Amino acid sequence: MQQKQKCWTAEPDFVMKIRVVVLGAGFAGLELTAMLSEAIPDQLDLTLIDKSDSFHFGFSKLDIIFGLETPEAVHFPYKAINKPGVRFRQETITSIDPKKRVVATNRGTHESDVLVVALGADYDLKATPGLIEGGNEFYSFGGAEQLRKKLSSFTKGNAIVGVTSTPFKCPPAPSEAALMLHEYLKQHGTRDAVQITLVHPFGAPIPPSPAASRVLVHAFTERGIKFMPNHIVQALPKAGMFAEGAARVVGESLIAQVKGGEKPRPYSGAGSCYVEFGEEKVGRVDVDFFSGPTVKGEYLGASIDLAREKRDFAADRIKRWFGT
Ligand SMILES: Cc1cc2nc3c(=O)[nH]c(=O)nc-3n(C[C@H](O)[C@H](O)[C@H](O)COP(=O)(O)OP(=O)(O)OC[C@H]3O[C@@H](n4cnc5c(N)ncnc54)[C@H](O)[C@@H]3O)c2cc1C
Repeated sequence: MQQKQKCWTAEPDFVMKIRVVVLGAGFAGLELTAMLSEAIPDQLDLTLIDKSDSFHFGFSKLDIIFGLETPEAVHFPYKAINKPGVRFRQETITSIDPKKRVVATNRGTHESDVLVVALGADYDLKATPGLIEGGNEFYSFGGAEQLRKKLSSFTKGNAIVGVTSTPFKCPPAPSEAALMLHEYLKQHGTRDAVQITLVHPFGAPIPPSPAASRVLVHAFTERGIKFMPNHIVQALPKAGMFAEGAARVVGESLIAQVKGGEKPRPYSGAGSCYVEFGEEKVGRVDVDFFSGPTVKGEYLGASIDLAREKRDFAADRIKRWFGT
């Protein structure tokens, strides 16, 4: 984030406005936008830019693969955003001048007093030979939709859920995919004809939480899922809740500058990940990266209550971020 002190725009009614341009309307960009709009609506002139026309949660891709939701149901159009001081622009960012805080897009340029980059991470499918030609991926929305089609005709053989490199988004996601695949095949009467293997780059499914990892490994054994851990690569969880937490610290810092007040404490690195276990049950891992000498992870066992909490989490974010 770059910023210039005390250089807000003046409007005829003499309300000083801060021009904020937020690049990327994902977990981080939406959270920051909602925070600023709620805290300083009259002083805010915020442009939120994303190349897509709608938001979806990363975890909704699992629902797409296994036919639990339709694509329409998990997309939230940005045009519905109704937050004071905020305008959304569907544009593709082509270059950023961090010194001048000017952004070029396919439709023009945007100048700012404060420029926030929240563009997430892209995937490099070509980096894994054969993946495009012979494999499937579910980390992109299109990939999840393709996989859903392929699964409908998959009745026997080997299914390998693998991670191609680290760091990768949401460490529980591969384990969730293996568990949900088990349930899907069971429901379709084909589980006995399929060997499911989970090839994982870490020594445990969720390294910061040994308790959650133990439960997951036990769940794999119970369900006949072959777990192949690898101890070479070190862990880095990159989940949406952490992007949201980091965005909050940026938001608090900007609000303190506009309203006056103390600067926030640095980002604590604390957050949670939900883990789908199938049978409509969800577990939760609370991870704390920075407050102690080592990363700590607490595990809450899978339950129907936590499945409800996850649904409420998503509904609450959509309400806050979109203001509808
Ligand atoms: C299968 C799966 C399951 C997951 N499950 C969970 C979970 O249960 N819990 C959890 O907390 N997290 C989960 N995640 C991780 C979560 O989705 C990401 O960590 C989160 O989206 C990161 O947020 P972000 O704001 O940094 O980036 P993103 O959400 O990726 O947002 C970046 C935005 O920038 C836009 N953008 C990028 N380039 C441009 C450009 N040039 N011009 C204009 N716009 C651009 C993109 O369109 C995008 O909307 C999961 C991820 C996957 C793939």
